[in-house]
Amino acid sequence: MKTLVVVDVQHDFASPDGALYVKGSEIIANKVLEVIKDFDHVVFTLDFHPINHCSFVENGGIWPAHCVAYTEGTAYFDGGIRYGEILEELGVVKY
Ligand SMILES: [Zn+2]
Repeated sequence: MKTLVVVDVQHDFASPDGALYVKGSEIIANKVLEVIKDFDHVVFTLDFHPINHCSFVENGGIWPAHCVAYTEGTAYFDGGIRYGEILEELGVVKY
């Protein structure tokens, strides 16, 4: 049994206009889609913070506010390809 763990492929990290964009990371979304069907299980993690999180600069931390709960920043980055459609096809989510 093979499991793929997709860690924090989210707007704030993978989109050029994200709060903590990592240059080049947008290619990860496409890579995930290349290999996703080769796995029996796929786990997606989410970075997801309350607005007053201690890791944010304004609260004494070192990071700019990012992946604030229920904002676009927490959304899965799809790199122009719709994760939702893939997940729906796999029966993971339904719209
Ligand atoms: Zn975070």
